[in-house]
Amino acid sequence: MTELSGGSALPQERRVVTAIPGPKSLELQARRTATVAGGVGSVLPVFTTRAGGGVIEDVDGNSLIDFGSGIAVTSVGASAEAVVRRASAQLANFTHTCFMVTPYEGYVEVCERLAELTPGDHAKKSALFNSGAEAVENAVKIARAYTKRQAVVVFDHGYHGRTNLTMALTAKNMPYKHGFGPFAPEVYRVPVAYGYRWPTGPENCGPEAAAQAIDQITKQVGAENVAAIIIEPVLGEGGFIEPAKGFLPAIVKFANDNGIVFVADEIQSGFCRTGQWFACEDEGIVPDLITTAKGIAGGLPLAAVTGRAEIMDSAHAGGLGGTYGGNPVACAGALGAIETMRELDLNAKAKRIEEVMKGRLAVMQEKFPVIGDIRGRGAMIAIELVKDPETKAPAPEAAGALAKACHAEGLLVLTCGTYGNVLRFLPPLVIGEDLLNEGLDIIEAALGRL
Ligand SMILES: *Cc1c(COP(=O)(O)O)cnc(C)c1O
Repeated sequence: MTELSGGSALPQERRVVTAIPGPKSLELQARRTATVAGGVGSVLPVFTTRAGGGVIEDVDGNSLIDFGSGIAVTSVGASAEAVVRRASAQLANFTHTCFMVTPYEGYVEVCERLAELTPGDHAKKSALFNSGAEAVENAVKIARAYTKRQAVVVFDHGYHGRTNLTMALTAKNMPYKHGFGPFAPEVYRVPVAYGYRWPTGPENCGPEAAAQAIDQITKQVGAENVAAIIIEPVLGEGGFIEPAKGFLPAIVKFANDNGIVFVADEIQSGFCRTGQWFACEDEGIVPDLITTAKGIAGGLPLAAVTGRAEIMDSAHAGGLGGTYGGNPVACAGALGAIETMRELDLNAKAKRIEEVMKGRLAVMQEKFPVIGDIRGRGAMIAIELVKDPETKAPAPEAAGALAKACHAEGLLVLTCGTYGNVLRFLPPLVIGEDLLNEGLDIIEAALGRL
């Protein structure tokens, strides 16, 4: 599959030649510890030299299979040909003018692509930013300006970023919020349809959870006070929770009936990750606003808010922006990433990854009762680990031990989940099927040794 690996033509193979991390990584890690703030963590301290396709090469000459994509970012690979070509050309022409000072075509072109690709055929506009959190913050600003209301509703297990407002929107205390308050006011959290853990079972979960959420909003906040309801169509950091069927449509209907701006946070789930351009398409949802980042630009920092033109235009001139927002090199990267997604039909690739992964994981679940649940869509797949399939008591130690065992074998995997007991798989969509299966072999062997 080297043809998909991008400009660096990196050999698409796993190669473990030292302990992981190896001696050179350990040396760099010591320098890092001396100078990088302790609050900035790393899942696996192997220092990267090159990455592309489905692999990450380190300073010790190891080549790791990548099931993380830099947290769902490098869907087209970390050195995709079209991203490298377009961003390099842009870099040579100019690095920055500030779009708010003198504009450039790349920004406009990215907004045109976003209008085409996001759900719904209404008139759309976009604004570009640097990070996902910044996009979410701006979606809230825009929704408040449009509705002249203040309250924002978010969900259990939701994750929306690490800035002050987005910490308030995020559910989980440790490590995201602990000690960092006070948080922004007028944020209200309601239940989400977490099928695996719903008391009356996954079949009843969608409508029951929606009724509970709507009841709480109505009774505790007042629908007429709510500016925005923000939800990830597949929850990311919270544990790859797909809200049970019927939940999202009921919430959208409630929002529409009450003049509330419905915001789909597709920062992790968007851009082919789940086998569709956007995960909310799965239930035919047309959000009023949609936030994107991560997979949008092949690894370059870019984020967007896209939505109904009349909502997007409600902020006064000069009210939105930022020095670097929609940087021209990042915009060129996004155009390269989108070109790659279209040309290689990465939605189909994501669906194939789901088929392979879920097939293999289902066989593992029969052998290993620690796998309580297998879920997710496309190349956004997770297993939730439990101490006992009956009680469903979370097994975060098992998730940690499995991740460690995979890392030692040269497979990069990530954990997530409110209870820290979810192992998540986010391979680049361009990964070769041989590497995908080799990664799954490693997971299976590690489960056997657990
Ligand atoms: C990662 C993420 C964010 C925050 O994005 P940053 O670029 O890290 O600020 C927000 N929402 C979701 C759903 C995310 O996965």
